[in-house]
Amino acid sequence: MTIDVRPVSWVQALSAAADPAAVVVAGGTGVQPWLTTTGAKPTVLVHLSDIPEAWELTPADDRLRLGAMVPVGHAALTDWFGIDGPQWFASPAVRRRATVVGNVVSRLGPRELVPVLVAVDGRVRSVSPQTQVWLPVQDALDLAPGAVATEITLARPERISYRRVAPRSRLTRVEMGLCAALGPECTAAVVLSAGGPVRAIPRAHPGARRADFIGAVRAAVAPHSAVDIDILAALADQVHCDLHDGVPR
Ligand SMILES: Cc1cc2nc3c(=O)[nH]c(=O)nc-3n(C[C@H](O)[C@H](O)[C@H](O)COP(=O)(O)OP(=O)(O)OC[C@H]3O[C@@H](n4cnc5c(N)ncnc54)[C@H](O)[C@@H]3O)c2cc1C
Repeated sequence: MTIDVRPVSWVQALSAAADPAAVVVAGGTGVQPWLTTTGAKPTVLVHLSDIPEAWELTPADDRLRLGAMVPVGHAALTDWFGIDGPQWFASPAVRRRATVVGNVVSRLGPRELVPVLVAVDGRVRSVSPQTQVWLPVQDALDLAPGAVATEITLARPERISYRRVAPRSRLTRVEMGLCAALGPECTAAVVLSAGGPVRAIPRAHPGARRADFIGAVRAAVAPHSAVDIDILAALADQVHCDLHDGVPR
């Protein structure tokens, strides 16, 4: 039997999530299909939706702080999606429920937001009854046992571009993607396989000249994978173009 627990504070949520058999639920767009398709019966589902602080969205210095229930489709996130907007992510109904934090910490989905969040120096706050730590988004998949991700903070990009390809036409998931953002604390980030690890590329400075930016992306990726480097260079070219209004620099 599964018990649904609906804490109204982070203290209550942490206490409930400390049960090793507990599963945390934010928007549920990953958990719900997982329960349905696998027939899994966790003993406790810890729903975060009744915690008022989890819905908060507040500016903090030059960053934006999002509580764990803030959905991907929130209007305040428009600047982070750049000129293409959030349409590439699922459907409007899913974007209204799927959370940004859930995308980062989920092992159930493709985590397609992560390149964007790495490019804007995203940091996730992971809290357990024993510890409290800020993790770079790249490392947030491995929350400590019993830990809950309570919030994420993002640098505010002046401009951002996320270009993606799915080289095999039968797959709809992004297989290679490059995101770069201009602004304080922003950088470039690349993903080379669907749901694969995302790497920041600090040497590829988005404000650099086009050839230097593309060269730095190529150099960062070449030693690590069998990826088609020419496709990646074409993405880097598009991203640089987006960031600089197509003006060659
Ligand atoms: C129809 C459909 C389309 C989708 N399209 C996309 C897409 O285009 N791109 C994409 O990347 N994803 C997609 N997804 C996957 C999913 O929507 C995202 O991964 C979403 O961001 C997950 O957020 P959530 O709040 O719904 O997570 P939930 O389903 O609530 O949780 C997912 C996992 O993360 C854990 N978790 C969530 N929040 C926390 C927290 N605060 N602390 C600790 N653990 C937590 C849960 O325990 C669970 O294991 C899609 C899903 C569906 C059903």
